[in-house]
Amino acid sequence: MTEEQLLGPQEIRDLAAALGIRPTKTLGQNFVIDPNTIRRIIAAAEISPDETVLEVGPGLGSLTLGILDAAKDMVAVEIDPPLAEQLPATIAKFRPGAEGRIDVILSDALKVTELPRVPSALVANLPYNVAVPVLLHLFATFPSIEHALVMVQDEVADRLSARPGSKIYGVPSVKANWFAQVSKAGVIGTNVFWPAPKIKSGLVAFKRRQQLLSDIPREEVFAVVDTAFAQRRKTLRAALAGWAGSAARAGEILEAAGISPQERGEKLDIHGFIAIAEAARRLPELEQAGEGA
Ligand code: SAM
Repeated sequence: MTEEQLLGPQEIRDLAAALGIRPTKTLGQNFVIDPNTIRRIIAAAEISPDETVLEVGPGLGSLTLGILDAAKDMVAVEIDPPLAEQLPATIAKFRPGAEGRIDVILSDALKVTELPRVPSALVANLPYNVAVPVLLHLFATFPSIEHALVMVQDEVADRLSARPGSKIYGVPSVKANWFAQVSKAGVIGTNVFWPAPKIKSGLVAFKRRQQLLSDIPREEVFAVVDTAFAQRRKTLRAALAGWAGSAARAGEILEAAGISPQERGEKLDIHGFIAIAEAARRLPELEQAGEGA
């Protein structure tokens, strides 16, 4: 079987010239011009031939063609009108016959709440300035997404996959862990893009958890995470004082959760934050039971 053509520097330059586009920083437009990088991303994404893939920010279509070769069908969500309008023609040219296997949606991925197909995977070279919010929004909004492989700035890749106790462990690491098991899947140099960004990129793989870690609403857990990391150098007792109503109350909640009030948020994994949110709910009942005894 001959390998299908992927977009290289010449094709990307021609497409951009035909559209008269100049990549913008605001929309994180760095287009992949290297077929080998596309092959690496597709291999790391572990897409099965029966899958429906969601791609965010297809741009000029570099990754889109690779996804179409690996998946059953796909949805691509692009915010930039000229790019979204051009994509079907690019597919018709480079993958004649595949047009019916893709829906292109002109939209901000942060605002998408419905899709014309049900995706089981997310594969994307994400716009760097909104990568983490887009990821969290999509995992929260589309429970059908079982796994994901995304390219982000390398430092964001490290942060997303960081473990408790590390300096870069923070809000993105914990929140991503609520949804999925997260691991770094590689580093990509700068010269595979046009225009070349200043910093390297990283690949991150996500496997959605089979079961929710807790029945407690996600927002309640995330509120604890946001508060704990807003003052990450403080003890949890101090950092959570405002959220709990007082430092003393925060101390009681932490003790009820089995966590030392002197601990710092950066040492807790997602289970620790869930235990705090659960204890905050349980505590009034515990007190009443204590009073009645
Ligand atoms: N996938 C292409 C590639 O690998 O060459 C382009 C990737 S480029 C890093 C990011 C793409 O996301 C751009 O096409 C940009 O227009 C698009 N984009 C930026 N913000 C977006 C948003 N909020 N929703 C959807 N697409 C967005």
